[in-house]
Amino acid sequence: MSANGSADLVFVNGAVYTVDAARRWAQAVAVRDGRIAAVGTDADVEELVGSKTEVIDLGGKMLLPGFQDAHVHPPASGVDMLLCDLHDAVGLDDYRGLIREYAETHPDAEWILGGGWAMDVFPGGTPTKDLLDDIVPDRPVYLPNRDGHSGWVNSKALKIAGITRDTPHPRDGRIELDELGEPSGTLHEGAQSLVSDHAPEPTNEEWEQGLLTAQTYLHSLGITAWQDAIVGGSYPTLDAYIAVAGRDELTARVIGALWWDRHRGLEQIPELLESRARGIVGRFSATSVKIMIDGVCENFTAAVLDPYLDAHGHPTDNQGISFVDPEVLKQAVTRLDAEGFQVHYHSLAERAVREALDAVEAARQANGPSDHRHHLAHIQVVHPEDIPRFRELDAVANAQPLWAAHESQMDDLTIPFLGEPRWTWQYPFESLVRAGAVLAMGSDWSVSSPDPLQEIHVAVNRVMPEDYPHRVDSRDVFLPDERIDLTTAIAAFTMGSAYVNHLDEVTGSVEVGKYADLVVVDRNLFAYPQSEISRAKVVLTLVEGERVFAADDIG
Ligand SMILES: [Zn+2]
Repeated sequence: MSANGSADLVFVNGAVYTVDAARRWAQAVAVRDGRIAAVGTDADVEELVGSKTEVIDLGGKMLLPGFQDAHVHPPASGVDMLLCDLHDAVGLDDYRGLIREYAETHPDAEWILGGGWAMDVFPGGTPTKDLLDDIVPDRPVYLPNRDGHSGWVNSKALKIAGITRDTPHPRDGRIELDELGEPSGTLHEGAQSLVSDHAPEPTNEEWEQGLLTAQTYLHSLGITAWQDAIVGGSYPTLDAYIAVAGRDELTARVIGALWWDRHRGLEQIPELLESRARGIVGRFSATSVKIMIDGVCENFTAAVLDPYLDAHGHPTDNQGISFVDPEVLKQAVTRLDAEGFQVHYHSLAERAVREALDAVEAARQANGPSDHRHHLAHIQVVHPEDIPRFRELDAVANAQPLWAAHESQMDDLTIPFLGEPRWTWQYPFESLVRAGAVLAMGSDWSVSSPDPLQEIHVAVNRVMPEDYPHRVDSRDVFLPDERIDLTTAIAAFTMGSAYVNHLDEVTGSVEVGKYADLVVVDRNLFAYPQSEISRAKVVLTLVEGERVFAADDIG
């Protein structure tokens, strides 16, 4: 503390939205020694201004608690940013241009790696090898799509992997075939590893670089904490986090969700305990375990109760994939709960959601209540009977709101195959809130934009932001009853995600004694029409009172 008790930094003349229990507003905030020292009117903080205090006049801008992303993949996304990155491209011509450019500017790369294409660019969501062979005939190409559930490969990559028309589909995936029965150039889910196992893995140094690149980008969007939804498995990033946190270069607070190897059983728990013991360094804590229960709807690998429909609306015999046997899942979650782990599920469609909740129920019956805050991410399709169970079982709804809108992936690749009434069970955010569930939110970047303002925009409007790089044919509101209000959406990205991260005692709201993890947005979101939320921009991000991002035009 400064000798005279004065603040290090004071914000005045702002629209301070505290997200405290009363959702109180204030005008001014004082920061001292990395913590919030006062919240109130300009007059309230005046006495804390000393000769060395920096004073920032917010001029009516909005100050909020730093955003927290409850499900995101920063190191891999950061590595992607440094490779052949297709995320911001729109359409096949752009993709081909970027791939050609990357290949030309990286003549020494043995493989062309990166990814981020959108399924809706290709008929049936499945790009073909010949499109790549044209551009890169001599080196293998492997490019996962933006949700990572399908990979686009060229002939050279198929050859290296030894994939032919006779290769059986792996148990946890599918090789897309053309009309002649030849591998066509798209690999789904576990089939991707037939190729990716041959590709060079990022080195530890590249993972660290990716993490730091991602951190800079996330701070520029106002994010001060996140839960990394996969640490281990195909993203062996535990050592990168430990190294970066150990050097005190991890400015964000991060909870790591250790990867549950779905090909193994409870015998892996001692290894998870060992990773957790090693994985608590600086602002990083590997205290969660990620269990991926199913795939995604667009390639029919999400676990559904009734079978998917075919293109003509007739039932198929496909109910998707449960990656983990439901009985094993119950035993695993019960043990993990007893060991003090939080469980972070990928549970996308209604059977996966039910299996996840059933496993939490089994753990509650065996172990009684716990404060581990198990959470279900994605929750795209939830059977109405399961909605009250989130509150009853104390399971957190971890939503990725940017997907809850009409766009081509939803309209062309999802709704017709879910059918009536099931497609109306999608992203039931308001129903969950009304049923008393705790709501956290995240982006699943690099699947979709990690910009919380874009995501809050869709959570509130259920319409895609104007400039989203995705084909949008319909601007109708997607299931309007499931819109949530701005207060609820902001709370989900601050206190809700802080709760999931066990950071709610020290962050998540602007209250005296908490860390000064703060964000300044260029306008008071409540003072503009809700249809304009996505136009707002973050101008300043602080962690413990230190600037981790500042736009050019802030004091
Ligand atoms: Zn994810």
